[in-house]
Amino acid sequence: EAKKNAQQEAVFFTNAIGIHYENRLGLESSLRSVLCRRELELYYQYQVGLDNGQIEGMEALLRWKHPEFGFISPLDFIPIAEETGMIIPIGDWVLRTACEQQRIWKEQGYGDFRMSVNVSPYQFHDEHLADHFLEIIAETGIEPSRLVLEMTESLAIHNVERVIVQLDKLRAYGVQLAIDDFGSGYASLAYVKQLRPSILKIDRSFVSCIDDMDEDCRMAGAIVALGKALHIHVLAEGVETEAQLQFLKEAGCDEIQGYYVNRPMPESEISQQLGSAGNSFYIVKRLLDNLD
Ligand code: C2E
Ligand code: MG
Ligand code: MG
Ligand code: MG
Repeated sequence: EAKKNAQQEAVFFTNAIGIHYENRLGLESSLRSVLCRRELELYYQYQVGLDNGQIEGMEALLRWKHPEFGFISPLDFIPIAEETGMIIPIGDWVLRTACEQQRIWKEQGYGDFRMSVNVSPYQFHDEHLADHFLEIIAETGIEPSRLVLEMTESLAIHNVERVIVQLDKLRAYGVQLAIDDFGSGYASLAYVKQLRPSILKIDRSFVSCIDDMDEDCRMAGAIVALGKALHIHVLAEGVETEAQLQFLKEAGCDEIQGYYVNRPMPESEISQQLGSAGNSFYIVKRLLDNLD
């Protein structure tokens, strides 16, 4: 019986790159000490304006470098963090680190980019989340309006009312909300109405098929139109090809993010790139050149 359970867990817990973890408990317990062992790191990916080719924002993406398993994808460990409650201290660490980095890049003269931080609906179970986040924001010195919280449409949002109260409080200070993976979730339009995001991120699935010019690329265009009608900024994620970039630019999409611009990179590499450019412009200059 025990063996059967162990086997089931092993099957259940196979990650995207095919690692079979020895056991979930082992990973769970190493996740508990991940912060004091300093195994977490943030990578950053640019968000580039299609009108001017400039970096408008950065998304902070969490990486766990496990001493045994190597890099573990957030898609694999965020769910465990949510189940075990570790998402709270980890989420705090992500927010603090990303906000500090934004302030540092700004002080270094690289630009006053928005900083996007992914938040889990589980973090909103804490009814003091807004006050707590505002404390971290104040401590790190980021301008609240430069912070964007990215949240996916999710069934895990049990108590939408409570989430709205918290978001309203944060919004009063200027903190922005982005709905992540827009169109792939459960209640897109209801969420837009209730959560009042300032940014919609078109889900990668609607971008990756633009090259085929099928139904789904009309979805991308439709989301851009929705954003225009509601005065919400639209950002396409997962842009990998020039054809996608071209289509989105013509559709009137505001910003793009994806491997076509850059892979998520550690702080040191971003700093180096920004530093050698002297400003934020050169990295995306080739995009502009390609567009004209
Ligand atoms: P997301 O927020 O939708 O982030 C976009 C994901 O797509 C990232 O995967 C990014 O590396 C990947 N990506 C970016 N451009 C491209 C592209 O052109 N092509 C393809 N194929 N992929 C691209 P990543 O970093 O593995 O993160 C996966 C998800 O994990 C994120 O999806 C987000 O939901 C979650 N996540 C990441 N960091 C955090 C965090 O700090 N807190 C929480 N709660 N969730 C996080
Ligand atoms: Mg995101
Ligand atoms: Mg996304
Ligand atoms: Mg996603």
